[in-house]
Amino acid sequence: MPPRRLAADWVFPAVAPPIRDGAVLIDEQGHVTAVGPDVGGEVPTPPGVPTEYFPDAALLPGFINAHTHLELTGLAQQLDEPDFPSWIRRLRALKAERTPEQFLEAAKQGVRECWAAGVTAIADTGDTGAVAHALAELGGRGVAYQEVFGPHPAQVEESMAGLKAEIAALRPLEVSGRLRIGVSPHAPYTVSAPLYHEVGKWARDEGLPLAVHLAESVEESRLLHNGTGGFADAWSKRGIPAPLPLGLSPVAFVDHYLGLVDTLCIHAVRVDAADIDVLFRRGASVAHCPLSNRAHGHGDAPLAAILAAKIRVGVGTDSVLSVGVLDLLASAREARALAGLSAFDTLGMVWWHAARAIGFPDKLGMLVVGGQADVAVVSLRQDTHQPEEELLSGRGTVLATFVGGREVYRRANA
Ligand SMILES: [Zn+2]
Repeated sequence: MPPRRLAADWVFPAVAPPIRDGAVLIDEQGHVTAVGPDVGGEVPTPPGVPTEYFPDAALLPGFINAHTHLELTGLAQQLDEPDFPSWIRRLRALKAERTPEQFLEAAKQGVRECWAAGVTAIADTGDTGAVAHALAELGGRGVAYQEVFGPHPAQVEESMAGLKAEIAALRPLEVSGRLRIGVSPHAPYTVSAPLYHEVGKWARDEGLPLAVHLAESVEESRLLHNGTGGFADAWSKRGIPAPLPLGLSPVAFVDHYLGLVDTLCIHAVRVDAADIDVLFRRGASVAHCPLSNRAHGHGDAPLAAILAAKIRVGVGTDSVLSVGVLDLLASAREARALAGLSAFDTLGMVWWHAARAIGFPDKLGMLVVGGQADVAVVSLRQDTHQPEEELLSGRGTVLATFVGGREVYRRANA
């Protein structure tokens, strides 16, 4: 891949204020080797490397979506269930109708839609392996967490055998370095305590990152608190024993069995001060999905308290089935309103802070020397006085997207 020199009216390093009339130089390996003002020599122009200038536009780190289910791409608006437990059941039935080929095509379409929206890295959970294959085939960046289920303690052996076989098949896809395979013991209402324990032990031995849907709904809390509610009813109909011991919060329960060290906790809506303290002490991170939480009627996460505790937070959209369109900036604006954040801090949760939350601390989510050249080019007026506000408004159009310096999306006529 030849080196590239990109220039635009604005450059967002993400960890520093925007630069007016800036440029970025990208080397053959897809790393940023210089970033700064376009003129003045700070960003060299090597012989034979023409500058591509984008007028009325900004160069910025590609956005990072901390929670997706891209294998569900194309299934939007097919679920209209009154409560969360029946929604989950309908989702299972809907997934059973898709073939592996359809999941792969859906996942690829999902990855391309991310790029068209300027999103260059994702943390995705799913149980088909389709997103890992799609990222590997298309050259995308992200973590694909393989989901494992098994609410009955008697299912542990079978679930573990399935998980180990799936992970063994997926790990060779990590070869590019852009893709990481992880494990997601799905949620407290689909995973038994002994399965959490086995998955945690095994995943840590294997060095696999972990993600869990956690503390999302009232029904989940009720199941763990006193064994009542929609999930508890469904369990008892299937002869599944109530979780033991009762009385723990979702965070305390999963921390006890799985261990939340370095774990990506998706949602974290129903968490109190003690839970937040556990998340902090374990070095857990949070995928905050405000629009999904609202759509399901789960309420709002205590984002300000989570951030005040210095927990790493990335904003996620969740799936098309929950939110319709994966509008990451709309989710970020919602997070901002919830916690009263500056535009700079809000954008951090779809850039470098999100990168750390999903386990890519290596200069991802920022445009700095030595960092990954994951770049989105977004239209932005040259004369704006508030470039960060303007960017966050979502009014800009994504003109081009690069992953590791490779062009993966270009808008017609851009
Ligand atoms: Zn989810």
